[in-house]
Amino acid sequence: MAAIDAFAAAREQFAAWRSRYPTNPFEADRHLDLVNRRYLDGDRLDALREMGTQFGGRAGDLAAAIELYESRPPELDKYDGAGNPIEALRFADGYHEAGRLVWGSGLLHEALEPGRSFEQANLFYLASLEGEMGHMCAATCTTGLIRVLRRSGSQQLRERYLPALTEVEYDRADRGAQYLTEVQGGSDVGAIASEVIAAGDGTYRITGEKWFCSVADADLFLLLARPPDAPMGTPGLGCFVVPRRVDGKPNGFSIRRLKDKLGTTSMASAEIDFTDSVAYLVGGIDDGFKIMVTAMLNSSRWLNAIGDVGIMRRAYLEAANYAAVRTAFGQRIGDFPLVRSQLAMIKAEWLAALHSTWALTQLDETVDLATAGESAREADVGFHRYLVNANKLGCALAATTAVRRAIEVLGGNGTIEDFSVLPRLLRDAVVYEQWEGTHNVLTAQVLRDLGRLGLAGVVIDQTAVLLKGIGDDDLALVGGRAEAALEDLAGGISRSLEDPAFGALHFRTQVERLLRTHQVALLLDAAAGEENRAVAAELTAAATLLTGEYLDPGYRPEDDPRHLRTVDRLLGDDLAV
Ligand SMILES: Cc1cc2nc3c(=O)[nH]c(=O)nc-3n(C[C@H](O)[C@H](O)[C@H](O)COP(=O)(O)OP(=O)(O)OC[C@H]3O[C@@H](n4cnc5c(N)ncnc54)[C@H](O)[C@@H]3O)c2cc1C
Repeated sequence: MAAIDAFAAAREQFAAWRSRYPTNPFEADRHLDLVNRRYLDGDRLDALREMGTQFGGRAGDLAAAIELYESRPPELDKYDGAGNPIEALRFADGYHEAGRLVWGSGLLHEALEPGRSFEQANLFYLASLEGEMGHMCAATCTTGLIRVLRRSGSQQLRERYLPALTEVEYDRADRGAQYLTEVQGGSDVGAIASEVIAAGDGTYRITGEKWFCSVADADLFLLLARPPDAPMGTPGLGCFVVPRRVDGKPNGFSIRRLKDKLGTTSMASAEIDFTDSVAYLVGGIDDGFKIMVTAMLNSSRWLNAIGDVGIMRRAYLEAANYAAVRTAFGQRIGDFPLVRSQLAMIKAEWLAALHSTWALTQLDETVDLATAGESAREADVGFHRYLVNANKLGCALAATTAVRRAIEVLGGNGTIEDFSVLPRLLRDAVVYEQWEGTHNVLTAQVLRDLGRLGLAGVVIDQTAVLLKGIGDDDLALVGGRAEAALEDLAGGISRSLEDPAFGALHFRTQVERLLRTHQVALLLDAAAGEENRAVAAELTAAATLLTGEYLDPGYRPEDDPRHLRTVDRLLGDDLAV
C-alpha cells in the first residue's frame, strides 16, 4: 500500500508540474511585458498586448496540433499516379493545423509594411515557446522574402507575389524559401557555382544544385546564381525569385531526397537540382549578395535569435515548474542550492537574450523603416550591423546550454521524448546554431565590420554610455565591473583588428564577451527604470550573475557571501506553490 501511495504521489507531482504551465504564456510573462513597455507605448502597446493575449490564448491549440506530428518527418511524392513529376511533400497530421494557427496570428501579414518588428517579434516568440521550429523556419524565410521583394523587387514582382506571401489564411498563403548553400560549402557564399542565363525575354534560367533547401514545399524560392561572364566570389552573384510551378508543373526542379535531420524534423529540408528553371531577377544582376545579406540573412538572424529566446523561456518554465513540485530525499528539488543555481543561470541567460534581442528588434525596425525612406542615425545602422550577428551567435549558444541545463533539472525524465518538450527544444536549438551563419562565420563577419566600417568605437562607446548612465548605487557597482571588462576588451579588440592572425583565433571569445557587456548594461538600465521592485530585483540579480560568470575574472561565487541571495532574488516567486 505504501509503495502504491508513493507511485501515485509521484504521478500527482507530474500532473501538478504540467498544470503549472500557463494557459496564456503571453499574459503570464512579466518580463516580456517589460521589454515591450521599454520600447512601445500608447495605442501601439495596447494593440500589441491585445494581439499577444489573443495568440497566447491559442497556446493550448498549437501544442495539441504539434503533438500530432512532432518528430514525424514529411514524405516526398515525386510522381503522381500517372507518372507525372509533381515533387510534392506530404506532412503528418496536425502540421497544417499548426501552420494555420501560426499564419492566422498575423505573423507574416505584419511583415508587409516596415515598422512592425515588435509585433512580429512577439508572435514569433510565442510560437517558439511550443518548440515548433518547422513552421518558424518557413515564417523566417517568408519574412525575408517579403523584405527582399518590398525593398528591391520590381513593381511587377511586388504586385504578383506580395499579396499571397502576406496572406493571413495559411491555406491560401504562399510560403518562401531561400537557397544559398551548395554542396561545396554554405559559409563561403562566394563559391556558389549555380549558373544563370538570360532567356532574352526579360526572364532568366537557372541551372545548378542546392544542398540545403529548407521549406522544400515553398511556393517561391529565392536563389543566388552566377551569370557565365560574371566575376568569381560574391560580387558576381545575382538574386532571383523562382516560382515553384510554371503552367501548373514543377519549374525545372527535382528533389533528390529529403534530409534526415537532428532537429526541425517536421519541416522538409531537401537537396534540389534546378535545370533551366524560370527565374526573375531581383535588383541589379550583381546585387545578389548584398540583397541576400541585408534583407534576407539579417532578417533571419534576428528572427532566429527570437526563436532562441522562446526556447530559453520554455526551458526555464519546464525546469522551474518541475523543481517547484518534484521531491527527492524528502524535500523539493527546487530547495537544493545546486538546482536553484542551475535554474538561476537559465533564467539569467533567458533575460539577457530577451533584452539584447528586443534592443535588436528596435534597431531592426529602424533599419527596415529606413529602407522606406525614414531617416536613421548612422550610429544605429552601425550598431544594428554589429548586433544582428553578435546576438545570433550569443543567443544560439545560450539556448542550447539553457535546454541542456533544464534537462538536467528534470533528470532522466528530461531526456524522454513524450515527457516534455525539452528533447525537441534541444534538437532544434542545435540546428539553430548551424543555420543562418555558423558561430565562426558570424565572428569573422563582426570582426570584418568592426574593422572595415570602423564600428568598434560605436559599439564600445554605446555600451559604455549605457553602463555609465546607471545612477543607482547598487546597480552601478555591477555596472562598474562590466565597465572594467569593457575597457579590458577594448584593448584586446584593437589587437584583433590590427593583427589578423591574433583576431582569427581570439576574436570569438571577445565578441561573446562584448555581447555580454551589452546584455548586462541593458539589464541594469531596465532595472533602474522599472517601478515593480520585484521585477527590478530579478533583472539586477541576472546582471550580477552574468557579470560574475563571464566578465569578472576575479569573481568566485564561494567568496561572495551574497551569491545565494542573488540566486534567490533572481528566482523570485517562480517556485511558489
Ligand atoms: C537543418 C538545416 C537546414 C538548412 N536549410 C538551409 C536553407 O534552406 N538554405 C540554405 O541556403 N542553407 C541552409 N542550411 C545550410 C546552412 O546555412 C549551412 O549549413 C551553414 O551556412 C554552414 O555551411 P556548411 O554546412 O557548408 O559548413 P561549412 O561552410 O563547410 O563550415 C564547416 C565549419 O567550418 C567553419 N568555418 C567556415 N568558414 C570559416 C572561417 N572563415 N573561419 C572559421 N571557421 C570557418 C564553420 O564555422 C563550420 O564550423 C541549412 C542547414 C541545416 C542544418
